[in-house]
Amino acid sequence: MKNKVVIIGCGRLGASIASYAASQSLNVIVVDSNPAAFERLEEPFSGFTVAGDATDQVLLEKEAYIQTAEAAIVTTGNDNVNLYLAHLLSRIYEVPEIVVRFDDPKYQELIKDLKGVNAVYPFQLSFEKILSYKEAKEDAK
Ligand code: AMP
Repeated sequence: MKNKVVIIGCGRLGASIASYAASQSLNVIVVDSNPAAFERLEEPFSGFTVAGDATDQVLLEKEAYIQTAEAAIVTTGNDNVNLYLAHLLSRIYEVPEIVVRFDDPKYQELIKDLKGVNAVYPFQLSFEKILSYKEAKEDAK
């Protein structure tokens, strides 16, 4: 399977990314421990879903085919799970491109030496955006 992207966590963020990637003709495999989460995917969804714990290496290898993924996006709501997965996907499976979500910006320190890993911080992005609106309003006074 070419252009394969594995998305871990099918919450609002993961489901939106998975739906978009599938609509762009990428081969998408989305993993979530709660099968009900797949209801968030936009229909029709051309990707594959895998129900189970993404920290299970047997599941990652035999059901998500992680060894051949070109990219992985890690979006569970648990920073510690996401940190573990970032290390596993980078160090063991050598996935070339990995994006991982963290709520706590302090996690940057814990992934800085990992090859191919970029982090996003939704809380930080919201915080900065709110401050920028406030500052723009004060400048206009
Ligand atoms: P949210 O926190 O709402 O963005 O959703 C995160 C999603 O990640 C939920 O649908 C959870 O079921 C899923 N999730 C959390 N931990 C795991 C895990 N270890 N393996 C797979 N999916 C998980």
